[in-house]
Amino acid sequence: MSTYENAQRILEESGKISGINQEIVEILKYPQRIINVFIPIKMDNGKTKIFEGYRVQHNNARGPYKGGIRFHENTDLDEVKSLALWMTIKCAVAGIPLGGGKGGITVNPKNLSDGEKERLTRSFVRAIADCIGPDKDVPAPDVNTTSQIMDWFADEFGSPAVVTGKPVGKGGSLGRDTATAQGGFYILNEMIGNEKKRIVIQGFGNAGYHFARLCFDAGHTIVAVSDSQGGIYNASGLNPNEILERKNTGSVIGFKNTKTITNEELLETDCDVLIPSALENQITEKNAEKIKAKIILELANGPITPNADRILWNRDVEVVPDVLANSGGVIVSYFEWLQNKSGESWNLEKVQGELKNTIIPAYKSMLAEKEINAVNMRTGAYVVALKRLAEKIKI
Ligand code: NAD
Repeated sequence: MSTYENAQRILEESGKISGINQEIVEILKYPQRIINVFIPIKMDNGKTKIFEGYRVQHNNARGPYKGGIRFHENTDLDEVKSLALWMTIKCAVAGIPLGGGKGGITVNPKNLSDGEKERLTRSFVRAIADCIGPDKDVPAPDVNTTSQIMDWFADEFGSPAVVTGKPVGKGGSLGRDTATAQGGFYILNEMIGNEKKRIVIQGFGNAGYHFARLCFDAGHTIVAVSDSQGGIYNASGLNPNEILERKNTGSVIGFKNTKTITNEELLETDCDVLIPSALENQITEKNAEKIKAKIILELANGPITPNADRILWNRDVEVVPDVLANSGGVIVSYFEWLQNKSGESWNLEKVQGELKNTIIPAYKSMLAEKEINAVNMRTGAYVVALKRLAEKIKI
C-alpha cells in the first residue's frame, strides 16, 4: 500500500468513529489541487538540468493552505499528497485557522552549490506563483529546506507573509526554529511529569537536534541519535551540543565514546521514549514487535505505518501521532504569519507561551476523544480534526 493509501485508510477509519457525514470523509480523501512543475536550471557547469516539483493543496476549508516544502531525492507525488493531507488534519487538531498543503522538489540538495539551490528555489516560486500567496497558500521549511531558502522564496515572490520559517530579522518569528521540538517537548512533559527518561532520537536535523537539546537540558539521558548515515549509542548518555559540532563536519558517526549502530538498530534500542524525527515508514510490521520504547512521539511525519500502529497498540506502546506531536512547527508558523500581517514582533516568551497554550489544549482534546471512543491517540486526534473540518465543510 502506498503512503497515500495508508493516509486515506486512517482517515476512513477515524471518519467512521467520528460520526461525521461520510461524504465529508470522501471529500477529504482527495486533494483539491495538485500543481506539478518541471523546472529548468542552468547548473554551474553551464548545462541545463530539469527538476520536478510539486505543490499539493489538500484542503482550505479552515483557512489558506499551509505546509512545508521538501527537497529530497526520494520525494514524489505520493509523498507530497500524504504530507498535505496530514497538514489539513494537523492544523485542525491544533485549532488554528489554516488548511493543509505541502510541496517538494525531487533533488538531493547536497549535490547542489548554493547558487544552484538559490536558482532552483527562485524558479520554483515563479512556477507556482499564481497558486500561492499570503491569503491563499503559505509554504514553510521541511526536510532540507532552511531559513535561507525561505528568505529566497519570500524575496522572489515579493512578500514576507507568503512563507514562514524565514530568518529572524527578515520577517521570521523568534522560536520558529525550535518550535517543532518545543511543542513535542511540552506534550512529553504533560505525559511524564518529572520522571527522567532514556531517550532515542532518529534524525538529527531541525526537529531531532532541538528535541535532543531540550531533553538533555531537562536531565533526561539521550542514549542514541542518528542521521542518514547511521546512529551512535552510549548507554550513559550523549551531549547533543557536542554532537552538533561534530555533525557540522558531516555526520554524527564517529563521535567520541560511542558505538556505531544502524538506523534499524537504533529504532530497536532499549529506551523509554523513541523519537522518530527523520522520514516516513520507519516503523513497519517488520520491526514493530522489536521496539522497546513505551512511548513513541512522532516528530517526523508518517514514521509509523498503520499495520505497525496496530501492533504497537496491542503491545500498549503509547504513540503520540505526528499530527499532534510535531504541530508546534505549524503553530509557530501561524504566529509568524500573524506577525507579518499585523507588523508586530513577538518576544520569545510570548511565542513559547502561546505555543504551549495552543498545543496542550489540542493534546487534551485528543485525550478526551481517545477515552470516549477507546481508541489510540492517532484516531483520537483525527476525530478531533474531522469534527472541526466537518463544521466548516458543511457551511
Ligand atoms: P532536517 O532536514 O533538518 O533533518 C532531517 C534529519 O533526518 C537529518 O539529520 C538527516 O540526516 C536525517 N535523515 C534523513 N534520512 C534519514 C534516514 N533514512 N534515517 C535516519 N535519519 C535520516 O529535517 P527536519 O525539519 O528536522 O524534519 C524531520 C522530520 O520532521 C520530517 O518528517 C518533517 O516532515 C518533520 N517535521 C518538521 C518540521 C519542522 O518545523 N522542521 C515540522 C513538522 C514536521
